[in-house]
Amino acid sequence: MTPATPVTSAKTLRIDRIACTGQGLCGELLPELIDLDEWGYPIVKDRAVPDHLRAHARRAAAACPLLALHLDAGRT
Ligand code: SF4
Repeated sequence: MTPATPVTSAKTLRIDRIACTGQGLCGELLPELIDLDEWGYPIVKDRAVPDHLRAHARRAAAACPLLALHLDAGRT
C-alpha cells in the first residue's frame, strides 16, 4: 500500500478592480501581501498566498466591505 499523497491547494489573491473603491482595509489587514497606493487602492505584492498567511488572507477577503478581494484556489 502506498502512502497517501498530501493534497495541497494553492491559494491566490485576486482583486476585483471594478468593485474595489480603494478604502484600503485589505492593506491594513494583510500588509504582508498587499500594499496600498497613494489613493488607498491595493497593490498585490505576491498573488500566491503562503500557507502561514492563509487564515489572514481569508479574514481580509471576508472583511472587504465590497467583496472585492478574493482568495481563489489555483495555481500562482
Ligand atoms: S478592502 Fe476591498 S474595497 Fe477596500 S481596498 Fe481592499 S479590495 Fe478594495
